[in-house]
Amino acid sequence: MSELDPKFVREITKFGAINFSACYNCGNCTAVCNLSENQANFPRMFIRYGMTGQPEKILNSKEIWLCYACGDCSESCPRQAFPGDYMAALRRYTIAKADKTGLTRLLFTNNPFAILFTVLLACLLGSLVLTVKSDEAVARWLFTYIPYEVVHNIGLAVFILTGLTMVAGIVSFIRHIWNPGNIGSDGNKPVISWPKVVKALKKTGIELAAMKRYQSCDKEDDSYWKHKPWLLKPWFVHWCIMWGFLGLLLATVLDFIFKNPATMMWLPSRLLGTLTGILLMYGASIAITYRLMKLTKTYSDGKLADWFFLVFLWIAGFTGFWLELAVIVNADTQLNQIIFLIHTVISMELVLLFAFSKFAHAVYRPLALYLYFYHT
Ligand code: SF4
Ligand code: SF4
Repeated sequence: MSELDPKFVREITKFGAINFSACYNCGNCTAVCNLSENQANFPRMFIRYGMTGQPEKILNSKEIWLCYACGDCSESCPRQAFPGDYMAALRRYTIAKADKTGLTRLLFTNNPFAILFTVLLACLLGSLVLTVKSDEAVARWLFTYIPYEVVHNIGLAVFILTGLTMVAGIVSFIRHIWNPGNIGSDGNKPVISWPKVVKALKKTGIELAAMKRYQSCDKEDDSYWKHKPWLLKPWFVHWCIMWGFLGLLLATVLDFIFKNPATMMWLPSRLLGTLTGILLMYGASIAITYRLMKLTKTYSDGKLADWFFLVFLWIAGFTGFWLELAVIVNADTQLNQIIFLIHTVISMELVLLFAFSKFAHAVYRPLALYLYFYHT
């Protein structure tokens, strides 16, 4: 049995769990959860781990990544223990634990720090953008006070450190969930089965492409989403945000490789950027609207990092389309220069800042899904 941590209830509350110690173990939440099954019995089991102070059980679990935060369990809890929010808090806690710099923990648990850090990072990134536009008046003014090389080198160091921290976080995460003790019940060293690897990869790929498990979340008769059109269902909104962002990232890389295709609207990379930009804007707009309307318990409570992420995505998408139109009508105005600066800074912040939160999630979930499918 792992070591018990009596402070764990308070600890997990800092990451967004609400009132989970009110749970009296009735099991309603597990019964309504369509993703909970014999091998993955949640959320009740994980609430017990939290209440009895067993963080290792949580850090070593693949199962917390099977939950899609649909909130059905929170709606059905007779004790208002918000098991769906609790599961989300466990994922934030796990991401924070994998980051040994402590930055993720601060971003999730200290709102004033998160705001200050975001603003300072925006200033640094804005200055960094000016290093490649050093003939602009504002750049000339800035570099009379701060040497160009200082800004350039600090910016470079931030990108390198972020990359290294991400890799270290992924290694730490895998070391936790790749627990050989979970693999060979006979105590023997586990042997990799290649047919199982292929099967698990296929199932993970299908899940990421179609989100079939997430789709099964709204099948309950009393689900708020059961009779809503699929375009408005949370799984589709999530799908649009994920694939919209990944597509835009790919389009940006292709733009960079092929130098300046922004002026050629019919290039495949530009078409990919436009299509995935529409997906991203649609998903981010709907998700923000649901949160503003507090449609269900899931959308009523959100950490500042969740809001930042959605709003940053929306701004990046909006300014991206603005710039695309500016290129079409050939409008090289000062306003469009400012929009370009905002777009670039927000896009870089998305990659840097959320490498510690949301994008860590985007890497950890597929890894956990793969290992779960491998072992079931
Ligand atoms: S439904 Fe609520 S009270 Fe019942 S086990 Fe789940 S969290 Fe606990
Ligand atoms: S939030 Fe949804 S997927 Fe997650 S445990 Fe609750 S019912 Fe299951």
